[in-house]
Amino acid sequence: METKIVKASNKSIAEAANLIKKGELVAFPTETVYGLGANAFDENAVAKIFEAKGRPQDNPLIVHLSSYKDVEKVAKDIPDAFYALAKKFMPGPLTVVLSKGDSVPYRVTAGGETVAVRVPKKKWARKLIASSMPLAAPSANKSKHISPTTAKHTYDDLNGLIPMVLDGGPCEVGIESTVLDLTADTPTILRPGYVTEDMLLKVLHSVVTFSGKIKIAKSPGMKYTHYAPKVYTVVAKTRESMLAEYDRAVSEGKNPVMILRTADEKVVKERHHVFLGKKPSDVSKNIYAAMLAAEKVFDEIIIENFGEKGLLGSVMNRVEKSAGHKEV
Ligand code: AMP
Ligand code: MG
Repeated sequence: METKIVKASNKSIAEAANLIKKGELVAFPTETVYGLGANAFDENAVAKIFEAKGRPQDNPLIVHLSSYKDVEKVAKDIPDAFYALAKKFMPGPLTVVLSKGDSVPYRVTAGGETVAVRVPKKKWARKLIASSMPLAAPSANKSKHISPTTAKHTYDDLNGLIPMVLDGGPCEVGIESTVLDLTADTPTILRPGYVTEDMLLKVLHSVVTFSGKIKIAKSPGMKYTHYAPKVYTVVAKTRESMLAEYDRAVSEGKNPVMILRTADEKVVKERHHVFLGKKPSDVSKNIYAAMLAAEKVFDEIIIENFGEKGLLGSVMNRVEKSAGHKEV
């Protein structure tokens, strides 16, 4: 199959909407990462997502809506908390887990009775959904690889496997959405993201962040390691250990690179490095693009520890998974 990259426009959105209605896949831009979408109500179309990505069947997809007002089309027994969250965070990088509506095939939810719902902020995503169907979509990468934040990243992974990539420019947020489970007794963050616990606490009385081993069937997606670059990747606890690891790698004949927020040039010296930026939102926006560029050129990636708080903590959640929890 030939894969074309097309600039998002009213014309290309109409073409993409036709593909979706015919049961085909379209990769589309959102503010978090690029998504690989199919008609959420069409089981055969949804099956193609798993095939193209090489994704395990028990990893559920997120249903993307053009407005939170459509939530009843895909979920039931919707609590008031959903509407309170929707007012503040939708459209935006927040995914909410609700009770599954009967219209949603189990293939979308990996057999579970819950469905994850999100309203993306990027206007092209909402236009595509509004002119076709609610879209079941994971990130538009090969399973286990890093999520794409440009149309080109998407093409690099899925060329030949899908008919169309809509190019809406780079993603502004740069990491996957926050996933919040509203079917738990206390609203529970299953995956940290741009919308942090503190932000959610402005709307909800209590929020907990899930930590620990997955036993429950309703969040099967969490057991998979995502986000890994193709080369050896480690997290450095400190600047010193980062430099030491770099020098060790070089002494072993490797070609490493350091990824860090900012630093004095004296610190990094002639060592290969990528600066993500000082602002947490720049770190989030640039992290995947930096890893995807680095894996093409270098054979070891050493990433600075950005800390545990807020958005940087969410970025760190992804980085730790990328590194398979290897620390130096
Ligand atoms: P991706 O963003 O590519 O990782 O794909 C969607 C992710 O959303 C899954 O891997 C899960 O982490 C999460 N998700 C989707 N549906 C559910 C659900 N019903 N319950 C919990 N998490 C979910
Ligand atoms: Mg993914």
